[in-house]
Amino acid sequence: LVSREVKPEDTQLRVGDLTIGGSAFHVIAGPCSVESREQILSTAHAVKKAGATMLRGGAFKPRTSPYEFQGLKGDGLALLAEARQETGLLVTTEVKDTATLQAVADATDILQIGARNMQNFSLLEAVGELRKPVLLKRGMSATIKELLMAAEYIVARGNTQVILCERGIRTFETMTRNTLDLNAVPMLKALSHLPVFVDPSHGIGVRKAVPAMMRAATAVGADGIIVEVHPDPPRAKSDGAQSLDFSEFEKSMNEVRAIAQAM
Ligand code: PEP
Ligand code: MN
Repeated sequence: LVSREVKPEDTQLRVGDLTIGGSAFHVIAGPCSVESREQILSTAHAVKKAGATMLRGGAFKPRTSPYEFQGLKGDGLALLAEARQETGLLVTTEVKDTATLQAVADATDILQIGARNMQNFSLLEAVGELRKPVLLKRGMSATIKELLMAAEYIVARGNTQVILCERGIRTFETMTRNTLDLNAVPMLKALSHLPVFVDPSHGIGVRKAVPAMMRAATAVGADGIIVEVHPDPPRAKSDGAQSLDFSEFEKSMNEVRAIAQAM
């Protein structure tokens, strides 16, 4: 069902009053984790001013260590709702499991499925039953084919509103957190009618290098990007090393806008 052979024309998703896929280019920006009211509201205003159309922020965080910050959970969802209300930005946040799916779905405009859950088939089936847009991230060791089959699980249950997201894969390279596989973008666009986003933040994991990958993702034909922005990256509770501050984000947005307009 996700194949271009079955449906030659691009799928366009309606999220609020936005259209994703087709000619528009969208930027989702915000912190890795929602940490406080002040943090999420200041970030929401800053990214909106710079031109982002959606706000990201994790409330239920899948962390490698159980001793790391796990997110504000329900309180985080409430703060995202407040930021949405105050700025008019649409919101995306990660759904980690089926137990919290309903609460997360009620609070967000786009459900994010994280890399670690790309093949959590019961979660894929459960979001497939909803009629809500899903941003499906590629697993860190998943092939392009496996990403497409994961999307198929969602679409097969009737939820056709799926965005595919390349977020970097594991390779032998250790200088960067992951290797952003920009090859995946033209391949996914050729193989599938679904919109394709890129996450340059997790893709490279190095703050100074993120703007270059934002530009590259735009130039390679992605339908949008999702990028981590924090008011004070060194103090972030998660992923500070790859988060842009407000001025870095604003500068990158001007570059990205110019590239997107030229395409
Ligand atoms: C995130 O977006 O903060 C995140 C955890 O991403 P991923 O699932 O791609 O690692
Ligand atoms: Mn993160």
